[in-house]
Amino acid sequence: MTILALAAAKAMMASSAFVLPLAKAADRVLGPRGCCLTFHRAAPSEQWERLPNRDFYVDADFLDRFLGYVRDQGWEVVTISEALRRAASAGSTGRYVNFSIDDCYRDTFELLVPVFRRHNVPVTLFVTTGIPDGTLPLWAAGLEDALLSEDRVTVDGEEMTLSSPEQRRAAFAQIAASWDGPQAADRYAAFCAANGIDIDAMHWKHAISWEMLETLARDPLVEIGAHTVSHARIASLSPRDAMHELADARLRLNARLGIEVEHFAFPYGRAADCGPRDFALAQKAGFSSAATTRKGLVHGGQNPFSIPRNTMNGSHRSVATMEMHLTGLSGAAAKVMGRV
Ligand SMILES: [Zn+2]
Repeated sequence: MTILALAAAKAMMASSAFVLPLAKAADRVLGPRGCCLTFHRAAPSEQWERLPNRDFYVDADFLDRFLGYVRDQGWEVVTISEALRRAASAGSTGRYVNFSIDDCYRDTFELLVPVFRRHNVPVTLFVTTGIPDGTLPLWAAGLEDALLSEDRVTVDGEEMTLSSPEQRRAAFAQIAASWDGPQAADRYAAFCAANGIDIDAMHWKHAISWEMLETLARDPLVEIGAHTVSHARIASLSPRDAMHELADARLRLNARLGIEVEHFAFPYGRAADCGPRDFALAQKAGFSSAATTRKGLVHGGQNPFSIPRNTMNGSHRSVATMEMHLTGLSGAAAKVMGRV
């Protein structure tokens, strides 16, 4: 299939005229199933429009509407623990959906969990412990903040003038792509020095803190899991280093929050980022499940150490696109296109 034909097929599949009737039919054919959805950050609609890295954020107003939609359509919002219990049960499990927030920034506490509380439904947080510990440089968040608030920045010795939101988005995409990799933290530190940015203050402007997590850990609607110490790509590490990322995050959350941490989510989470060796390591590290970002649905007999999750891209602010996930169409399309 040509790229054009694929794009046309994708556009058609994301249109509500095509997807919504299909979703109704799918409910009759597919029957009981679970769908795990994941995302990172959120912003209110009016702020979302201007963000240089807005695909990384779910529009909080859309999330609010979508939670109402899933309830109206008869989906039950559940924790990962409950999703696994249903996947292992022989009886009818109904249709259930889990929402997980990866990494965990300040907006998880200030904006996101309150949306779930308003709907009185649970949410799962997969915490990267280097964020509240202040050991993981949040270079993308800091870069984005500077590109949003400044009209002129110095990047790698060159002056850059910023005006329109489009230009700020293009600047973010270009700089983030050139920084990405092991040198990102150094490039970011040099950027902060050149632009008079207080790197610590910037970190705490975006990071979730242990105090916030302590409050969240006491909330009966919040399930807390681990997402490594340093947001490492687990498949790229030696078994020893991989085990540290898995086990240390679990121990740190346990020590700091006094909770048993049962669930884990792999950073990045696609096939190249975590494989069978890593699923086995997650089990060895004491977790009872591990989630990926391979698209698809949860059915009976699901392997708890490679749970599929569908990423909510910030720009997909339509129920039709979300139905692609709920019906498993996005997972089927990803398999056809080899994007696993
Ligand atoms: Zn992550």
